[in-house]
Amino acid sequence: MIEKKRGAAPRDDELDLEGRLTDTAYTPEDSAVENPLRPRTFGEYIGQDKVKENLQVYIEAAKSRRETLDHVLLYGPPGLGKTTLAGIVANELGVNLRITSGPAIEKPGDLAALLTNLSPGDVLFIDEVHRLPRVVEEILYPAMEDFALDIVTGKGQMAASYHLPLPRFTLVGATTRAGQLSTPLRDRFGVVLRLELYSPEELGKIVLRSAGILHAAIDSDAAVEIASRSRGTPRIANRLLKRVRDFAEVMSDGVITLNTARVALDRMEIDELGLDASDRNMLTAIIKHYGGGPVGLDTLAAAIGEESVTIEDVNEPYLMQIGFLARTPRGRVVTAAAYLHLGLPVPGRLRDEDDGQTRLVTEEG
Ligand code: ADP
Repeated sequence: MIEKKRGAAPRDDELDLEGRLTDTAYTPEDSAVENPLRPRTFGEYIGQDKVKENLQVYIEAAKSRRETLDHVLLYGPPGLGKTTLAGIVANELGVNLRITSGPAIEKPGDLAALLTNLSPGDVLFIDEVHRLPRVVEEILYPAMEDFALDIVTGKGQMAASYHLPLPRFTLVGATTRAGQLSTPLRDRFGVVLRLELYSPEELGKIVLRSAGILHAAIDSDAAVEIASRSRGTPRIANRLLKRVRDFAEVMSDGVITLNTARVALDRMEIDELGLDASDRNMLTAIIKHYGGGPVGLDTLAAAIGEESVTIEDVNEPYLMQIGFLARTPRGRVVTAAAYLHLGLPVPGRLRDEDDGQTRLVTEEG
């Protein structure tokens, strides 16, 4: 059984990115309850082979020892399937999944209420675990380690402390930034797994699987087209598929062909590499205002009117993966490939570097 904690605070990026099609933020349509596209078993979960294989071993071992699974930390950019994996873990273990998020647990009492309501073996999923308030984190430590809550009530002479045993549970924490987790919290996760951006082939399979569930007719080359413009992220692939299906239904007979996919994606201003207006705006700003970089994150955020966290979590992982952006100690730098993609002249210093690379490859080859 899957439950979502009601009243969870929306994440900052959810508000900032409203309306953006390549947005990786969580929306109600992603929720485990309403979203039929969400895989429920390891068999349905495409890609992330290393993560899947390791998790399967840990689950098998825990099951055969009749123990609860050790606490798991999943990290990686938004929309890659962390919540989905938590659901699969609970499913494979045959236990309940409770979903909440760091900012939604404001007080120690909120966490105590969640933990005391768990049944033995349950999985508690905390999204954005790096945003747990410090006071909450402190009572989470003994809960994770000793399955007990130490709560102090009252003040001065009236103060009383309670030691409350809890059912054994598995905490699955998700974060987009493992570096921001405090060391004591990170150390209490027995399993730490990093999710990678998906390859276009894997995303193509996800698009075909989702189209099947949505009863949308799609040509395989159209699926490849959508996949290659989804910036390595299943959440974006599913979202683009749904919008392309709208175009196919309104513009033609409903079948998603390569041509309809291209027209629809172009109309949504998502280019052939999956960059949207916000990515292009960011790259252009670095080039036009800062000579291609280096420029500091906060300066850049202010220049383009975007939140720094959005740039770091949403724009940068993909732009770095495709080699359009590099992070240096002095700031962000645009590469020659990005100039070429934007149709801008490559500055001499980058051309020289690139020539060097090309020569090296040719000579070695
Ligand atoms: P995260 O928690 O990392 O932000 P989610 O688990 O909410 O991401 O995944 C976003 C959506 O992408 C899900 O609703 C699901 O439909 C889809 N998805 C994620 N990972 C996969 C996968 N490996 N195979 C198929 N679909 C996936």
